[in-house]
Parts: sequence; structure tokens; C-alpha cells
Amino acid sequence: MKIRKVRLYTMEVPLRVPFKTALRRVDSVRDVVVEVDTDTGEKGWGEAPPTGVITGDTTGAIVGALRDHLIPAILGEEVENLEPLLQKVQRAVVHNSSAKAAVDMALYDLYGQRFQIPVYRMLGGARSRIETDITISVNSPEEMAEDARTAVARGYDTLKVKVGVDPSLDTRRLLAVRKAVGEDVRIRIDANQAWTPKQALRILSDMEQENLHLELVEQPVPAADLAGLKYVTENSPVPVLADEAVFSPQDAVRIFQKHAADMVNIKLMKCGGLYNALQIVSAAKVYGCECMIGCMLEAKISVNAAVELACATDTITRIDLDGPVLCREDPVLGGAVFAEKDIQVCDDPGMGIRGVEEGYLKELR
Ligand code: MG
Repeated sequence: MKIRKVRLYTMEVPLRVPFKTALRRVDSVRDVVVEVDTDTGEKGWGEAPPTGVITGDTTGAIVGALRDHLIPAILGEEVENLEPLLQKVQRAVVHNSSAKAAVDMALYDLYGQRFQIPVYRMLGGARSRIETDITISVNSPEEMAEDARTAVARGYDTLKVKVGVDPSLDTRRLLAVRKAVGEDVRIRIDANQAWTPKQALRILSDMEQENLHLELVEQPVPAADLAGLKYVTENSPVPVLADEAVFSPQDAVRIFQKHAADMVNIKLMKCGGLYNALQIVSAAKVYGCECMIGCMLEAKISVNAAVELACATDTITRIDLDGPVLCREDPVLGGAVFAEKDIQVCDDPGMGIRGVEEGYLKELR
């Protein structure tokens, strides 16, 4: 199976409500879609969201990396030589993790189709269903309490609550959310780098004193401040999960070695795809750590690839794959079935994506 042609598109899907974190506000998902065509007629699909504030990958940068480096690296290559091909993708250009992820997932998709096996089974096959949390955007305490109530009414039992915008409000926000949903709902929080280490400890102890029973705190301090992250991990009453501090397998190993966080959040768009994500998973196993799998604001092609990975291994114990349920529409055909918190992986060969509904893709020529 030879790679014959690669087509690029943009795909726009509106969100149900604006997505707001300490870093940004977004109203719709507008991603780059990659279609890899082979000489045998199969198509592999990939998707890359431009998440400039986290990965540095803008739409123009993603398209540029694809056209100038990644597409030339795979054209004419045999899909059967998967590992060297995946390594070639990683080496073709530095950084540009989202563009690499889009190509990497399309190659796994094709390889699974070539050998008639779903990717999650090829990579371990730990399970076929998972349950995701849902994100509560950062707003006024009252608004967040209302959003939390709505989420629980939709069946979610784990909330990921965004904090860090005007930190003096954070404990009040969580009190309002906890009061709205009761004791049985699991609450994890994400500060998206907004706190200083000392401020983080102050806020987390305040929250502990208010009996908020938080499951974990995600990336409390700036990504580059590994010493600060370790300081929070050692002193916080709440377990710490590193997100923006972990892009590569090397980052993950450094964090595990220093015990700078209790867990790491794997996102395909940060690490450049499944090939590197699997190395993070292996490192976590070696150090006896667990992983979360997360996504950016993404539609279903790329989140589906994350579902395949999550179903491959039980080292991924926490699932934050709410991208598709935050969207108002789902134009992607095939792949995992998202029914609010329940996600059922697709058992078709490869990733199971069959294309995108008419009218959502705009080809880039
Ligand atoms: Mg995060």
C-alpha cells in the first residue's frame, strides 16, 4: 500500500457555547483535515486544531509544515513500513506537533486498514468503552454552578472545572459548583498555568479547608516552571497533573524522574501523535504513574484517534475527551460513538473514519 496523494482541507464546526479558559475564548472549532490517499484506494484521515496559545500551531503553521515537510516525507512511501515512516514524520521538521499528529494518525489508520484490525486492538486492546469528563468553562461562580448542574443532568459524573481567571474568585467558583452538584460528582480543576507556586498552595489549601474534595489539579503553574510544579506537588493536598509542561516523551520522563507531578496529561496535539504518546504511556508504566488523555477543542477525527489510544491501554486512567460533545454538530462519518459521557470505540479496521459530511470541508489548494 503506497501513499499516492495527500489532500488538505479546513473543517469548521460550531460549539454549543463559547469555550473559556485562563488562556482564551473560542466560539467554533476550525481545524485542518488531512486525507492521505493510497494506490489501493484506501484513505487515512487526520485532523489538527490550531491551538496557538498552547502548541504554537496556527492554521498557517500547520498547513506550512504539512506542505513543506510532512507531505514530501510520506509521498511514495509504503504504509507497511509503519515504524520507520512514523519516525520519518517526527524527524521531518522540529516542533509542529499538531501537524505531525494529523499525519501520524492517518498512517495508523491506513496500517490498521491494510491489516484489517482496529488500531486500539493493534496497540493492546485493553477495553472497548471509556467515560469522559466534561469541561466547565471559567465564568462567574453563579454561571459555572448552572453549567455544572446542566452537565450533571446530561449524565456526566466527572467535571473538569476551569479556574485561574481572577484567582481571588477560584475558591468561590468551586464552592458554587460543589454546592450545585452535591458530593457524588467527581471534580477535577484546571488552572492552565495561571497561578504562582505559592498562590497555588494557598488556593488549594483554601479549597481543601472548604471540603471541596478535588480529585486533582491540572497544570497549576507556568509550563516552564518545573521546580514550581514539583514544589506544588510536594506540598499540595490535591494530586497534581502536568499538562502544558508535557509535550514530548522526554518531558514526561523528566517529570516522572523528578516526581514533579503525580500524573501527566497526554494530548496527541502536544506530543505529535500516537507514536510518541505510546512512549509516554510506556514511561508512565515504568515509573508506576497513571496518565490522563485529553484533547484540544477538536472535532471527531482527531479525538477518535485519542479514543483508539485510550482503549488500547489501561495506563490511561482518566479520560478528558469532550471535544466532540462540546460541538453543536458532528459532521464526521464513522469512528467512535459519543453519547455524552459514554464513548464506544469503533471496531472497524484502522480508525473507522469514513469521511466528512458534505459542506463541512473546504479544500486548500
Ligand atoms: Mg489542561
